[in-house]
Amino acid sequence: MKRVEMKSRKTINVTQPFLPPFEEYVEEISSLWQTKWLTNMGEKHNKLTDSICDYLGVENASLFTNGHTALEMILEALELSGEVITTPYTFPSTVNAIIRSGLSPVFCDIDPVSWVIDATKIEDLITDKTCAIVGVHVYGQNCDVVKIEELAKKYNLKVVYDAAHAFGAKLANSGIGIFGDASMFSFHATKVFHTVEGGAITYRDKNIGEKLSMIRNFGYNMDGQINLPGGNGKMSEFHAAMGICNLKYIDSVIQKRKSLYNLYDSLLSGCKGIQLQFLSNHLTPNYSYFPVLFHSDKYERVRDNIAEELEREGFNTRKYFYPIANDYGYMICSMEYTQQRETPIAAKVADSILCLPIFPELLQQSVEEICSIILSVLKS
Ligand SMILES: *Cc1c(COP(=O)(O)O)cnc(C)c1O
Repeated sequence: MKRVEMKSRKTINVTQPFLPPFEEYVEEISSLWQTKWLTNMGEKHNKLTDSICDYLGVENASLFTNGHTALEMILEALELSGEVITTPYTFPSTVNAIIRSGLSPVFCDIDPVSWVIDATKIEDLITDKTCAIVGVHVYGQNCDVVKIEELAKKYNLKVVYDAAHAFGAKLANSGIGIFGDASMFSFHATKVFHTVEGGAITYRDKNIGEKLSMIRNFGYNMDGQINLPGGNGKMSEFHAAMGICNLKYIDSVIQKRKSLYNLYDSLLSGCKGIQLQFLSNHLTPNYSYFPVLFHSDKYERVRDNIAEELEREGFNTRKYFYPIANDYGYMICSMEYTQQRETPIAAKVADSILCLPIFPELLQQSVEEICSIILSVLKS
């Protein structure tokens, strides 16, 4: 009976983009019909750049067509070559960007409770070829930025954070984008804050900003000279306008996520077979995901069983991140890209992780249903 009722209901996705009121977006873009200035660092682009700096509490930010392009462009701007120590437990973008920039990823295992790169294991991986550390603030949880800074100073390495998940998160009351040489934020539709497609780099050194501006716009400098073989990473006015509208709602978006997050937490934490992500004490989270690790003595593939059961009941989940980068098809097929290293903790987490639905319009009742399905599978 229950199953029939549920079947007739629409599937609930693991995420659903926030959209501002339609009229507000139309109002925001209407001036573009007068100015006819649709891209190339126009009024909306510049306004959003300033608002992003304010909101993130950073001195410098540059906007891009998407987060991935931004990451490739900052790696280029930092003039890196050689090996980059990074985490295999991430979205393919991170490691692909490293490889597409002609660099070699060296995988460092992750911390078993916070699931970010284990900073205590980085030093052993540093060689005379190492040029940078790329950490990922996984699900918005911060890397050990203090330890990583220490290592970077000691060995003269650059530090870039993939902060795609971390928009609005704070560390010891500072915006998370102030750490390292630069941080990349993704403004993809599925992220906490979005411009449909888009991204930003926040960075410490103003000179990096000039370089980034050239790389993002075919290599043009201020005088119209082509100073380097740049690409195209410019954010359009329509995308920037979406960002301007969405930024007005960011606090309420995070607040709604927080209450759903806390509801999941109260229903699941401490239950047998369930491990939730450890969040550091100094972090003010942005509640961007609700990841759960499932363990079971009885089922070999309990995570997959739970995902299938939730799917049957109309709830989408995501094995995010699975597989780890060591196991990407192109890594397995070729030794060219990386020296294969075992990262057993990352492998185990990827095999047991499931991200549950969380987005501002998700109903509390759905969270309760999801949790009761999970608990009944674990008990059966
Ligand atoms: C989304 C994401 C990216 C890529 O960002 P896009 O804006 O989609 O290009 C990179 N890294 C991580 C960890 C992400 O989640």
